[in-house]
Amino acid sequence: MTFDLEMLRQHYAQWTQRCDDVRQSCNRPLTLTEKILLTHLWSDSNASPAQLRRGVDYVDFAPDRVAMQDATAQMALLQFMQAGRPSVAVPSTVHCDHLIQAKAGAATDLREAVDKNKEVFDFLSSVSDKYGIGFWKPGAGIIHQVILENYAFPGGLMIGTDSHTPNAGGLGMIAIGVGGADACDVMAGLAWELKMPRIIGVHLRGKLSGWASAKDVILKVAGILTVKGGTDAILEYFGDGAQSLSATGKSTICNMGAEIGATTSIFGYDHRMAEYLRGTGRKDVATMTDAIASHLTGDPEVYANPTAYFDQVIEINLDELEPHINGPFTPDLAWPLSQFAQAVREHGWPAQLDVGLIGSCTNSSYEDISRSASIAAQAASKKLKAQSEFTITPGSEMVRYTVERDGLLEHFDAIGGVVLANACGPCIGQWARHSDDPQRKNSIITSFNRNFAKRNDGNPNTHAFVASPEIVTALAIAGDLTFNPMTDSLINTEGFEVTLDEPQGLAFPPKGFEVADSGYQAPAIDGASVKVHVHPDSDRLQLLDPFAAWEGTDLTGMPLLIKAQGKCTTDHISMAGPWLKYRGHLDNISNNMLIGAVNAYTGQTNSVRNQLTGAYGAVPEVQRAYKAAGLGSVVVGDENYGEGSSREHAAMEPRHLGVRVILVRSFARIHETNLKKQGMLALTFANKADYDLIQENDRMDVLGLNEFRPGQALRMRLTHEDGSAKELQLNHSYNEAQIAWFRAGGALNIIRAQAAGHS
Ligand code: SF4
Repeated sequence: MTFDLEMLRQHYAQWTQRCDDVRQSCNRPLTLTEKILLTHLWSDSNASPAQLRRGVDYVDFAPDRVAMQDATAQMALLQFMQAGRPSVAVPSTVHCDHLIQAKAGAATDLREAVDKNKEVFDFLSSVSDKYGIGFWKPGAGIIHQVILENYAFPGGLMIGTDSHTPNAGGLGMIAIGVGGADACDVMAGLAWELKMPRIIGVHLRGKLSGWASAKDVILKVAGILTVKGGTDAILEYFGDGAQSLSATGKSTICNMGAEIGATTSIFGYDHRMAEYLRGTGRKDVATMTDAIASHLTGDPEVYANPTAYFDQVIEINLDELEPHINGPFTPDLAWPLSQFAQAVREHGWPAQLDVGLIGSCTNSSYEDISRSASIAAQAASKKLKAQSEFTITPGSEMVRYTVERDGLLEHFDAIGGVVLANACGPCIGQWARHSDDPQRKNSIITSFNRNFAKRNDGNPNTHAFVASPEIVTALAIAGDLTFNPMTDSLINTEGFEVTLDEPQGLAFPPKGFEVADSGYQAPAIDGASVKVHVHPDSDRLQLLDPFAAWEGTDLTGMPLLIKAQGKCTTDHISMAGPWLKYRGHLDNISNNMLIGAVNAYTGQTNSVRNQLTGAYGAVPEVQRAYKAAGLGSVVVGDENYGEGSSREHAAMEPRHLGVRVILVRSFARIHETNLKKQGMLALTFANKADYDLIQENDRMDVLGLNEFRPGQALRMRLTHEDGSAKELQLNHSYNEAQIAWFRAGGALNIIRAQAAGHS
């Protein structure tokens, strides 16, 4: 599947030497995380491995791959088209999984989704075809499962436009979730920046048994570290317990590491990974990795004395690990199974279980499905039916086809389970849930990863819990959250008391994996003549025009658009929810620009004074009026402006609507960089108190742009309504390359010029 074996051969041919070089430069043994990151430093980066400070320094890296899901791929690829390249700079894939709504079952739901999102899928298919990108059609599977089965490899570095990209850590790859702007840069041949992470070692000892599964490891870790404990950190798992877990079990753990805010999670290479590579048709890769196996994991000295090399160490004994259930409303509220029923009663959570949902990218391996099917099979033979609604979401067509061939889906069917499309569905809120009364407090349990309020069905009354697929299956059969399958019994349809035995499963299908149509579409060998499909009247997709270059003069006479007060996250700047429908249409989505920001003069949102008319209007509307009048404008913000998830729209919308300057007390780093990439001026008050000097009807000039250079402040002249003026000093963090982005009107304009040979 466009997996470049030759590239991999070269990667591994140099691997040992590159690790030795880094080790020598650091003069100490290395964690696996360091080996991978430090061997992927961007070639022009001057970073010295020995001096990089974890959790502090921002460093440029060169990823090996890019993966994109259908929702986030749209703007990333529309931007990439502007780079003027004939094909992507690194191997990339697109996966159609987020736009499929779960309603009636796989076949009908898939048909409806393909119909409803046809223009988006047609665009993604054609743009992939043209630029050498592998395209996985709707129904092919969920991005992370497909990546694991086809593309992940030990010792690699990948970025993906989805938060659960770390799933590939189960195959020894550093895989990190990013925004579309980062994906666009890497596909266009630019470096990718990351804060050098802290490294948390998780020492797993012993072996899982009975009802405990890999999912319980991460449920336990989430309880220890909480949703913030992994921030700016990579979790590196090691120990005999780590080696006892299947590769897919490892992936489950890495996948859900996103819930503790971790940059990513990783396991060192071992025989279970080799087994998975062979089992999924990648014998050649396994042969190569086996040859350098000891180099694809952390150095032995590190694991022998972990506290000397990791920033924090966590110990977990798998022999003693109990199954866990986490929630509701947050994934770090961890309950050992034996204490859960009591917690349900004490907190008054609805004990009746409405729906149990298994599968998703987190838990849909052959091992997961076979263990859950073993519970379903014994339930059927013991004359039990699922008392809750029960759904199964396979992670890929390969797994679905294989488990159907092996008769496992029949066991779910026998207890009333419904198989959904191989897609995200209920996990991302694409779920037309049947509910008798949405006002009623209700409980669901899933084997997914996130359980924040409203995530699955949009209903704030839904209490969502997270557990392993085997525990979810058992609880769906009982229809009762307080049921403990390890100790409790159930009454069957014939009135007899029965118990459930421990789950049994296999990591691999005895007859091997099989698939009739994987849903993969290879790109054209020469995409030059391929036409990208975007209908000019579409309200969901719009081709982009390059932003204009800097005019070569100071920027003068700009009105203030809004002075935002307090928190102004990327969500305040570019709201999600219904707006996500327009994420491929810059002009339409720009109608949400800054509508969540609080106007410092009125305390209201989405209401600012139009200096041309004196009337108050919606922020995007007023900005469009300035644009029509040929006026650039200034947005003023408070501390940490642009925090939150990296969203390129939050930087592109102001640029598109003609805002020229974002001036704040301080920036969230990623947003600041995103603004620079779009050719905006991202500036900070040299004196933070100057924020208070900005008046609602000010006109502003930015001065000194012809001498714009690193480390040298710019100036702003404020002209108040009464004609009085003040001059402020403005700081910036632009380096030479970023100043070139500003001059060219955006980073992509430079790449396009280079691609055309004009630079
Ligand atoms: S299944 Fe859920 S967690 Fe996985 S990619 Fe889809 S939405 Fe994200």
